[in-house]
Amino acid sequence: MAENTSPAITMTCEVCSEYYTDPLMLPCLHSFCKKCLIKAKEKQGSADTSLKCPTCDTSVNLPDGKIKGLTQNLWFAHKSKEASIKKKILSKEAISCDECDDSSDAAVVYCCDCGQFLCDLCKKVHKRNKKKANHKLIGLETKESVKLPTIKHEEGYCDRHTDQKLIYYCHDCEKLVCPNCLPIKHKDHNIEDYIDVGETARKALKESVASCDGVIPPVTEAIANGEKMLEQIATRKEEVRQEIKETFEKLKAALDKRCNDLLMETEEIARAKRNSVEKQLDGFCKLVKQVSHGRYLASSVSERTDPGEVLSVKKLITNQLEECIEEYKKLPLEIEDKKVVLACLNTAAISDEIRKFGSIFEADPASYSIDSGLAIPLATVKKERKFKVSLPAGIDKAASYLKGSFIKSDGSKEEGRVVIVNDKNTAIVSCTPQSIGGYELSVTIRGHHIKGSPYQLSVKASRDYTTLTNQRSFYVGSGTACVAVHTNGEVYASSYDDGFVQVFSED
Ligand SMILES: [Zn+2]
Ligand SMILES: [Zn+2]
Ligand SMILES: [Zn+2]
Ligand SMILES: [Zn+2]
Ligand SMILES: [Zn+2]
Ligand SMILES: [Zn+2]
Repeated sequence: MAENTSPAITMTCEVCSEYYTDPLMLPCLHSFCKKCLIKAKEKQGSADTSLKCPTCDTSVNLPDGKIKGLTQNLWFAHKSKEASIKKKILSKEAISCDECDDSSDAAVVYCCDCGQFLCDLCKKVHKRNKKKANHKLIGLETKESVKLPTIKHEEGYCDRHTDQKLIYYCHDCEKLVCPNCLPIKHKDHNIEDYIDVGETARKALKESVASCDGVIPPVTEAIANGEKMLEQIATRKEEVRQEIKETFEKLKAALDKRCNDLLMETEEIARAKRNSVEKQLDGFCKLVKQVSHGRYLASSVSERTDPGEVLSVKKLITNQLEECIEEYKKLPLEIEDKKVVLACLNTAAISDEIRKFGSIFEADPASYSIDSGLAIPLATVKKERKFKVSLPAGIDKAASYLKGSFIKSDGSKEEGRVVIVNDKNTAIVSCTPQSIGGYELSVTIRGHHIKGSPYQLSVKASRDYTTLTNQRSFYVGSGTACVAVHTNGEVYASSYDDGFVQVFSED
């Protein structure tokens, strides 16, 4: 995500993909051939006086509405020219002579001073010319890599006085001028030797580089922090999602259990009701059977002609029937259990609760802070030390989000005991180191340290309190219950309410 490296500078124009010719630099620091920008401008239309950078699309205001007014990039111009000449020298293709009009003969040398390729004949002429005899010539047959000496660039010469080098800088006109132009066009102007101006410009650029160095590291660090933050956001989101899912799984399980309980209760009530009704029906059935049977016997025996037969069973039958009729009279024929089973499922209230159940909010770890106990970074082995953490207002069970760790600073896994107790607007972090050495107490919310955390403290061996010979009670500060002076000059003060002991050394 972070883009810290700039692409290497190439000497080819991004529009025509060739070495720059007459490169111009736009305010966005992208350079293009003059001809390419003119074409680009034509394509974009001449209605307004701005030009869109072909690379970054930044709109550039053209001075006087003309491409010509843009900044000439001599640096790229020279480097491109050098690169293209070098490429030509190293290429295996024949190069025509720049001096001869018919260009029939291939060039054999390159003159670094004239910036020209020369054929064998022109080379000889060159050498016989007094002025040019010292020119540096590079033979084209040596196709190995060549180190080009400084090439004479035309731009270094005056347009009007072509043999005059531009060796002055006019601060008023902001351009290089030749000695001949000085008295004519730049009279009374602020003129300086171009070498000095160049040196100043070089220094200024170096300072700019240095000032960039002050910008990049902190911004890079900020980017790194931001990226870390993005990771943390993703991690925290996952954690919170997990927590929500787990909580609702539990709620669903509780709901399922309640559902089953109610179903079972319904089953039981129904079974009991069925049993009682069935019991009643059993009674009815038994009675009907007995009555039917008795009635049948009575009716059958009453048809018999033999009085002996009739008399033999009459008593039992009548007894039985009378008993049955008696029972029938006592028996309520109405079914006893007339109650109906109902379920009370008042969803309105719980639905409302469910709708409002849970909330997602942001808490600033900095709104939690370890408030007391930080003054003296000392502790004693196996002795509890307490820290008060003030909690932000408006967060329900704010302390429940706190996580504490109390570990040895030396990287060993050894842990001290740490307990966090919620106490209305404060939480108490209680630590008990298990051995001598440096400890680090961390109190965090979802991995973020709260104010005052992490806290380093060094754990000493248990003090010999029996040497507290000089125990006297005197007033040291409000809330101080007891003060004792150790033989080594340390003063111990304990407070009434919270079990804090403060140690003051002699000074
Ligand atoms: Zn171009
Ligand atoms: Zn640009
Ligand atoms: Zn020639
Ligand atoms: Zn020459
Ligand atoms: Zn001039
Ligand atoms: Zn001037």
